[in-house]
Amino acid sequence: CGIFAYLNHNVPRERRYILEVLFNGLRRLEYRGYDSAGICIDSSDLASVSEDQPRIPSNSPRAIVFRQEGNIEKLVKSVYEDVAATDLNLEELFPVHAAIAHTRWATHGEPAPRNSHPQSSGPGNEFLVVHNGVVTNYEVLKETLVRHGFTFESETDTEVIPKLAKFVFDKANEAGDDQGVTFAEVVIEVMRHLEGAYALIFKSRHYPNELIACKRGSPLILGVKELNEHVNSEPLYDPKFLSNPKTNEPKELFFSSDANAVVEHTKKVLVIEDDEVAHIKDGSVSILKFDHGKDKKSGSHSRPAS
Ligand code: GLU
Repeated sequence: CGIFAYLNHNVPRERRYILEVLFNGLRRLEYRGYDSAGICIDSSDLASVSEDQPRIPSNSPRAIVFRQEGNIEKLVKSVYEDVAATDLNLEELFPVHAAIAHTRWATHGEPAPRNSHPQSSGPGNEFLVVHNGVVTNYEVLKETLVRHGFTFESETDTEVIPKLAKFVFDKANEAGDDQGVTFAEVVIEVMRHLEGAYALIFKSRHYPNELIACKRGSPLILGVKELNEHVNSEPLYDPKFLSNPKTNEPKELFFSSDANAVVEHTKKVLVIEDDEVAHIKDGSVSILKFDHGKDKKSGSHSRPAS
């Protein structure tokens, strides 16, 4: 099982190749074991905000999920068939495109499309999650969420995670916080409730152009490729590249279970440690530390290189 994500930030049109990046990432993670695979990409249509999703920003694209039992090539074939049939113009439309991908090795729930990842918060795909690991307390979380009106479509332990994210998000917004809750705050609150081992990547229509990954127990790395840089001169595992200021310079950012899925793109790879939360926003990355009591923001380059 492996997780992978790709965010292209202001990458010129002729260098956008979202599906290929995702599929190659998954192919390189296939050795970790698989029985199914899936991806989530941004659709070319922007949100038509419905009454039950009042908080989705109007610049948020629809999130489309493709999931398939079997190997990566089976997923690849079905995605390309669907894309051809639906006239999706993926590479053209967005200056930023955030996509997530997964190869699954089932622990809870048989291999089937509904049990494949990304798992979703429900209709409208407000929150989507890919997960490597096992949530050991998912049954009690599921009971609580069902009591709050959530309906579950899969038998996975994972499905509680995006639903919990939606629950946390809705609660925070009901509380009427004018500033709105940040994506990182939602994820950290979700982590507070999870037991077990995981590496997770979150995508949300409430936070278009952002991705968040976090981990406890399962492996996770971040890769950064600056397109205007002539040589990738930084050594591996040097976190100082994170200190780049917010910029519109084109860049590509990756999350992966294993650096081998990213090294074809960049050698700037940072190993994410347990209880760290990596937040990609506006083309820059912040690493936050989840510390079981309070959350303190560690500066982008305040921790020593691994
Ligand atoms: N426990 C999750 C599931 O069964 C994730 C398994 C994995 O790491 O692929 O869906």
